Amino acid sequence: MTHHLVVLGAGYAGLVAAKGAARRLRRHGGVRITLVNASDRFVERVRLHQLAAGQQLRDLPLRTLLAGTGIQLAVARVTAVDAAARTVRIDAAPHVLTYDTLVYALGSTADTTAVPGAATHASAVATHQDAVLLHARTQHTRGPLAVVGGGLTGIEAATELAEARPGRTVHLVTQGEAGPGLSERGRRYLRGALRRHGVTLHEHTRVGEVTADGLVLADGGGMPADAVVWAAGFRVPGLARESGLAVDGRGLITVGPDLRSLSHPEVFAAGDAVAAYGPDGSASRMSCQTGLPMGARAARNVAAALTGRTPGPLRLHYVWQNISLGRHDGLTQFTRADDSPVPALLTGRASARFKEAVTRGTVLALRR
Ligand SMILES: Cc1cc2nc3c(=O)[nH]c(=O)nc-3n(C[C@H](O)[C@H](O)[C@H](O)COP(=O)(O)OP(=O)(O)OC[C@H]3O[C@@H](n4cnc5c(N)ncnc54)[C@H](O)[C@@H]3O)c2cc1C
Repeated sequence: MTHHLVVLGAGYAGLVAAKGAARRLRRHGGVRITLVNASDRFVERVRLHQLAAGQQLRDLPLRTLLAGTGIQLAVARVTAVDAAARTVRIDAAPHVLTYDTLVYALGSTADTTAVPGAATHASAVATHQDAVLLHARTQHTRGPLAVVGGGLTGIEAATELAEARPGRTVHLVTQGEAGPGLSERGRRYLRGALRRHGVTLHEHTRVGEVTADGLVLADGGGMPADAVVWAAGFRVPGLARESGLAVDGRGLITVGPDLRSLSHPEVFAAGDAVAAYGPDGSASRMSCQTGLPMGARAARNVAAALTGRTPGPLRLHYVWQNISLGRHDGLTQFTRADDSPVPALLTGRASARFKEAVTRGTVLALRR
């Protein structure tokens, strides 16, 4: 009987997993692969701040990226997974898919649950739709923008939006320090770059509420803004928790070193949806640098499991954090394998070009 491998999500992790598994199982008959994704386009999520700032992104149809692989694409939204029955419910025909092996790679969304009003009044840059809405909301206004979140997404969004509208007031608000994973030198460069872009940095500033008029700060102060961008963390939807798969407190799928679900060994998981742990035992960073090797490892392990070999462990080795600061400036913070920063940096145009090369290279690799 034909073995049905279903991959959920055609982002960085899911696409690599599906294509890798197809390549490895090509000569092994009896396996068909279905890739389910909400859109028929691959979304370059790492460029969504550019889309929010009004730039046009390349069109990347999934059917082109999948050409010649034999993978069947189902353009549909997953509405439920039943891990006990091994079924996936989708919102288009045939409505129910039955799997023998599942790869769960449905990614993450912005976490707008942290403070009152964020879900209603703030925009995000975590999905294609978020970025389109943010652009629509900001392109005809001239007043201040407040970006909440001093991590990489907040920094990239603030600088890109400031560069798109020189002279506009852009605030970057964070409860800790901006760029917490950077070295001291990296943080110094970042502060200078934010100043050059006209972004006002508010560190150690906690947001209490988002309203239609801007931010209410936890100390009682206010920050008026025409638009608020919420970039203070990602979360995963409740699908995995509701499926019966073992998850952690954040709803991330708990897996062994081989990326197999701790509760259901026929399920592998990859990307932002996974509670994987970095080399030093800390939670791995939600990033392409985590999702891409996870997708590749999931492909190898699915192929191993289906051909009677032993799946191997995921080994994460971080090398850098690559931050764009508008189109012509950037900051590449080199890191140890455990993601902790070393003093070495690449900055300015050289870093911007390097990041562009890495981003393009990733899509080239996904095409292959
Ligand atoms: C603005 C921004 C900039 C970033 N910059 C960087 C960076 O420079 N470097 C870096 O390493 N990381 C960066 N990241 C993080 C990185 O984009 C994510 O960690 C990465 O996309 C995770 O890959 P994934 O495959 O797990 O999820 P995704 O890429 O989000 O893919 C998930 C896929 O599943 C689909 N999907 C979701 N729910 C459903 C459903 N119910 N039904 C059907 N399909 C569904 C989605 O449409 C999507 O195609 C950035 C993120 C953002 C938002």
